[in-house]
Amino acid sequence: MRCQYCGYLDSRVIDSRPTEEGSSIRRRRECLRCGRRFTTYEKIETSPVMVVKKDMRREMFNPEKIKKGLLLACQKRPISMKDIDGIVEKVEKLVHSSGEDEFSSRRIGEAVMDHLRELDEVAYVRFASVYRQFTDVSSFMDELNRLILDGKARQEEKQAGYGRGSREDQDPPMGRVLHGDRAE
Ligand SMILES: [Zn+2]
Repeated sequence: MRCQYCGYLDSRVIDSRPTEEGSSIRRRRECLRCGRRFTTYEKIETSPVMVVKKDMRREMFNPEKIKKGLLLACQKRPISMKDIDGIVEKVEKLVHSSGEDEFSSRRIGEAVMDHLRELDEVAYVRFASVYRQFTDVSSFMDELNRLILDGKARQEEKQAGYGRGSREDQDPPMGRVLHGDRAE
């Protein structure tokens, strides 16, 4: 890195620390010729990804935006900053590891919601209500009902097991049919 004062090409690093968000390293350097100090930033190179919105407008993918949305959705919920950063990181990875240079805002939103749902259902519904921009109460209720039904289905699956089923449409055990020993 060329010294910004005298142009000399060699310097020594006197301090090195990650920036607050951890996405880059800040280095304090000292020129080996003039002794003056300057700062450089080292950042992992990620190729820019464009987010394609519903109306086909594009904007640069910005993880900070996801974080802001998550912070709002998670207000007063038992969710740590680490959990939130974890989701942002997972979505970032998904976007950058795909190798695609465009990503629909829908795919990003769905990915966030998948992770959030595992974490906290209240935060999930809040995020979904903003993200999907429920225009009326009924579409919001649809989403809530879906969530409740899904929860019930999961519970029933757990309870059903292989015990005595009470469903009438269930096939009787083979032996019974073959021997025709029905009660009536
Ligand atoms: Zn210098």
